[in-house]
Amino acid sequence: MQPIRTFNVSPRLSPRLEPLRRLAYNLHWDWNVESKDLFRRLDPDLWESSHHNPVLMLGNISQARLQEVEEDEGFLAQMDRAARQLDDYLQERTWYDKQRGQKTGDGSLASQHTLHESTRYAKECYAYFSAEFGLVDCLPIYSGGLGVLAGDHLKSASDLGLPLVGVGLLYQQGYFAQYLNADGWQQERYPINDFYNMPLHLERNPDGSEIRVAVDYPGRTVYARVWRVQVGMVPLYMLDTNIEPNGAYDHNITDQLYGGDLDMRIHQEIMLGIGGVRMLKALGYNVTAYHMNEGHSAFLALERIRVLMQGEGLSFTEARQVVAASNLFTTHTPVPAGIDLFPADKMLYYLGHYADAFGLGRDEFLGLGRENTGDLSAPFSMAVLALKMATFANGVAQLHGVVSREMFQGLWHGVPEEEVPITAITNGVHARSCVAKSTQELYDRYLGPNWSSAPSENQLWERMDAIPDEELWRNHERCRLDMIVYVREHLVKHLRDRGASPAEIAEAQEVLDPYALTIGFARRFATYKRATLWMRDFKRIEKILTNKDRKVQFVFAGKAHPKDIPGKELIREINRFIREHGLEKQVVFVPNYDMHISRLLVAGCDVWLNNPRRPREASGTSGMKAAMNGLLNLSVLDGWWDEADYVRTGWAIGHGEIYDDPNFQDEVEANALYDLIEQEVARLFYDRDTDNLPRHWIAKMKDAIRINCPFFNTSRMVGEYALRGYFPASDRYSTLTADKFVPAKELARWKADLTEHWNYIKVVEIDIAEPAEIQVNQNIAVKARIDLATLSPDSVQVELYKGNVDASGEIVNGVPITMQFQGTDPQGMSIYTVEINYTTSGLQGLSLRVLPKHKYLSNPYETRLILWAEDSSAVKVSSLDGQGSRDNNVPAGAIA
Ligand SMILES: *Cc1c(COP(=O)(O)O)cnc(C)c1O
Repeated sequence: MQPIRTFNVSPRLSPRLEPLRRLAYNLHWDWNVESKDLFRRLDPDLWESSHHNPVLMLGNISQARLQEVEEDEGFLAQMDRAARQLDDYLQERTWYDKQRGQKTGDGSLASQHTLHESTRYAKECYAYFSAEFGLVDCLPIYSGGLGVLAGDHLKSASDLGLPLVGVGLLYQQGYFAQYLNADGWQQERYPINDFYNMPLHLERNPDGSEIRVAVDYPGRTVYARVWRVQVGMVPLYMLDTNIEPNGAYDHNITDQLYGGDLDMRIHQEIMLGIGGVRMLKALGYNVTAYHMNEGHSAFLALERIRVLMQGEGLSFTEARQVVAASNLFTTHTPVPAGIDLFPADKMLYYLGHYADAFGLGRDEFLGLGRENTGDLSAPFSMAVLALKMATFANGVAQLHGVVSREMFQGLWHGVPEEEVPITAITNGVHARSCVAKSTQELYDRYLGPNWSSAPSENQLWERMDAIPDEELWRNHERCRLDMIVYVREHLVKHLRDRGASPAEIAEAQEVLDPYALTIGFARRFATYKRATLWMRDFKRIEKILTNKDRKVQFVFAGKAHPKDIPGKELIREINRFIREHGLEKQVVFVPNYDMHISRLLVAGCDVWLNNPRRPREASGTSGMKAAMNGLLNLSVLDGWWDEADYVRTGWAIGHGEIYDDPNFQDEVEANALYDLIEQEVARLFYDRDTDNLPRHWIAKMKDAIRINCPFFNTSRMVGEYALRGYFPASDRYSTLTADKFVPAKELARWKADLTEHWNYIKVVEIDIAEPAEIQVNQNIAVKARIDLATLSPDSVQVELYKGNVDASGEIVNGVPITMQFQGTDPQGMSIYTVEINYTTSGLQGLSLRVLPKHKYLSNPYETRLILWAEDSSAVKVSSLDGQGSRDNNVPAGAIA
């Protein structure tokens, strides 16, 4: 039955307890030990049963209990302390204030909404778009690492005081809850999110009506309302289409994360990208930089261009360049198959009106999402759109940067692979969110409270050695025990719900040994992560599992995407393997992996296992969480681990080899895994002194913390995004839009002129003063005569490009050297000179290239124009031995 009216009933709190409400509605409690502990203390059972949701808890708690705590001096003191910490946090002078040299306004105002009144966003504002956010376990709007990374990004942006806002979709159904049937096959249940009982605010106009965002879809308009979750200083705004007067289909646009078919996917991405831009405008933000976290939100670029064209009267090219100059794109996908692609007809059906608004033909419009604009059969790629519409792009680990430059090289014809403008910013994790409470307190005590954001060079890391081995170890053993107790209770509950036999339930109460070496593996069950690699050779794993002197146990957890049948097979295989071999006590699969289980496992295991097929794991972050808790990583050299100190802080499986035969690769790496566990990991763990302490293991734990914590955290990561991405993009935006867009128009005119004349540029002559024999470190003068057609010398940069020549005759790892303009000769040719020398011996190559140059360009590759000296360019090699010069038509130019 439909209600005739609905009411939102909010919890009743006495004035003395009002601070609880304020604390509950700011997710700061998630990474503030004091506040989180306060809610646990208020009602431990309710805290657990509400999935750590303080808002739901305050709504359900008995008035009697509230009266009780109101008379509890200890409780009130803790509450006041937590409230003061929140106030201080919101008013702190931040890293951002210091970097950008401004004292921003009262942070608490921003946190209490009404941004118009807040000055924090007055000067600049960075909008961070993501399809999922993993912030706390009571907001199940994430599926895995991408979401948790986005959540951690917001938390660290808040810690650093960035004027950043998050943009996402608020899914009516949470990402599915997982349970297993008796055969170990994954079943899915979709909990309905009750927004009114979550730490969410519905955004309203001054007159009290809901703020509504309207987005055009074929033949209709879809409306969305706006919810905010406050993440410390940073608001995250989410769109919700489950409202009237939307039709039934449109209600479901924000129903499920990554649910539905391709049409639903495009509906969602339109709402995220286009609805997101409109929402920010409705909320009054003047955004100066847009960050697309993965390609799902790339339609935002189309909407931004439309707004600039229709609102400011800019041409398509003028608008496009303002948009690109202030857009950032982070790719997370190391394989083409992982990219969102839409067929051309769908694109035109749903977004063709943008082509009309831009005055573009169909193929020109579709070309925005095609690597090769001439390939009319290619689908529309969201990653390509994002790359073409951004001037800052990055992968999420150094290795992933390399893979991305190779994968998208085709977008920059003529640009050497290592110069493709896709950089890398290695992922991190939010330290205060992933380190266990008792461990945080231990670090606070010995290192001081700044450990969670201190960089590697900070002296405090030297104090790691001050932590007594015994104390670190006892703390870790307590984390292991906490994890095991939770796993047992969780399993029992799961088995009860499934109607399992009393014998099975009794058995679950005794799984795992609190003192045995525990290897953890928890992540999404995508097949490339190879969750079953460890069971490839039964004889070998049996030997490891039955060694009574060095007991080893495994804990697994993870969900497969509901449509990923092979992923689900892996879950079943593990569960069957456990049953067939009677390994129930020693190998456990923990159902319904989520952020809460993740936090327990990355604190309570001893070793964190990761064996993806390189280079499929763009970064991976669970291993970072583990390292921060003092776990040792045992991993294939992929993602973040490839650039970590894998000798001192764990072990590497293999050496980063990539074999053609995946089966052979599995065999080699499974054997390497068995060898490592037997010969290194278990030996070190069980090497105890007279106090029964594994001293060498503990030393390695300390290294893992000291070396990984300061680098693989989101404080460093978001700082990098700010310095390399947000600040420059935001500055470019201010520059281009100043004086009613005069600079933007100037740049567009310049680009048009440049493009028109580019092909007439000619490298007429390169004169290399070659000594009879070049020696290392000897100077060589190079002079070039270049016909710039009608272009001004200010418009180009001429570079010499030198490097080693490989077996196929190509210059590899070339280095560009800028040549100096010396004026024009009587023939009107521009003269450029430079002196170079070689620091290594061997066959060296030399070439010359011309790149565009303009003070408003974000980078020289932005126009995608580059001219290389052709084979036919005249290369004149003049001998320094006074024999005059000889003309030479060799390619520019191999020098032996
Ligand atoms: C950290 C985290 C992940 C990411 O794990 P990877 O090892 O990087 O795949 C996925 N899910 C949850 C719940 C997490 O907390």
